[in-house]
Amino acid sequence: MTTLTKEAGAPVPAGAGAFLSVRDLHVSFRTEDGIVRAVDGLSFDLERGRTLGIVGESGSGKSVTNLTILGLHNPMFTTVEGEILLEGQELTTARESELEKLRGNKVAMIFQDPLTALSPYYTVGRQIAEPYMKHRGASKKEAWARAVEMLGKVGIPNPKERAKDYPHQFSGGMRQRAMIAMALVCDPDLLIADEPTTALDVTVQAQILDLLKDLQQEFGSAIIFITHDLGVIADMADEIMVMYAGGAIERGSAGEVLRAPQHPYTWGLLNSMPRINSDVGAPLAPIPGSPPSLLNPPPGCRFHPRCTFQGRVGGNRCVTERPLLGTDRASACHLTAEQKRTIFIEEIKPRLG
Ligand code: SF4
Repeated sequence: MTTLTKEAGAPVPAGAGAFLSVRDLHVSFRTEDGIVRAVDGLSFDLERGRTLGIVGESGSGKSVTNLTILGLHNPMFTTVEGEILLEGQELTTARESELEKLRGNKVAMIFQDPLTALSPYYTVGRQIAEPYMKHRGASKKEAWARAVEMLGKVGIPNPKERAKDYPHQFSGGMRQRAMIAMALVCDPDLLIADEPTTALDVTVQAQILDLLKDLQQEFGSAIIFITHDLGVIADMADEIMVMYAGGAIERGSAGEVLRAPQHPYTWGLLNSMPRINSDVGAPLAPIPGSPPSLLNPPPGCRFHPRCTFQGRVGGNRCVTERPLLGTDRASACHLTAEQKRTIFIEEIKPRLG
């Protein structure tokens, strides 16, 4: 069970026995224009074998969070505060040599564009075999056999021959499968998939999602699945965390968040998704405005400049007081639980069809 326990504020105790536990994480970058607070007080737990979907627009902090878990930020320009505990090992203070041992072994990542992860100069088989030799001490022959086996597992036909090909000889969908094979070759406990299907057409996208689910069953990995598209993770995630402007604004089980969302931003995301039953050519309904600059985020609720519901909250609270995420099923919004329920049922749901 993924448990998110707080947003900004004082740290909370690590979840008992959580495989991955992120506590009050703050990540900021020094830029010529000032400090960018890319992640601002984020906490969550993830258990083995579970999938957490992290949803949000560009700049919400979802990718930065996961690059920080992998230690892939530039320490020259980045400040990381808080805790990232992987099976009790603190990663924010780990040495690069320790992180090197984890990456590609215990923790692996699938990127949106396989060409950023696959080198054009080496065969696909060699690139899958490499981490197996490095982390498992396998011989060249053993690692090659493992690479062929993994290509077969991810559905590449004739894997023995195709392992000798270079990435440019693979189609886009096959390259994505090869990258998944590379990520899973050492049987990682945690797989971070950052928009892994965004660049693919819908049919291949569905095949890759099915493949990830099957492989999770087989390998028992925990998965963090990052996307800007709530629809993509409807069938994939056990839990969903919605991020906005560097913080979590809603979280719960996938069923709860998709069937009874509580936060105006999540309503906007759902409303902006294309629907099968909408008229062909009907315009999409994007959330008005754009995400705030994290150099100088708005006071109070960071979503308030774009929120059409702030008039329903008494006084000026939305502008002056930052709403915090509660425990368990929660959303960071000053509307009362009754208001959230009624607005969703009477005003939002009918629009979603
Ligand atoms: Fe909208 Fe106010 Fe809720 Fe923020 S706290 S989402 S501005 S109603």
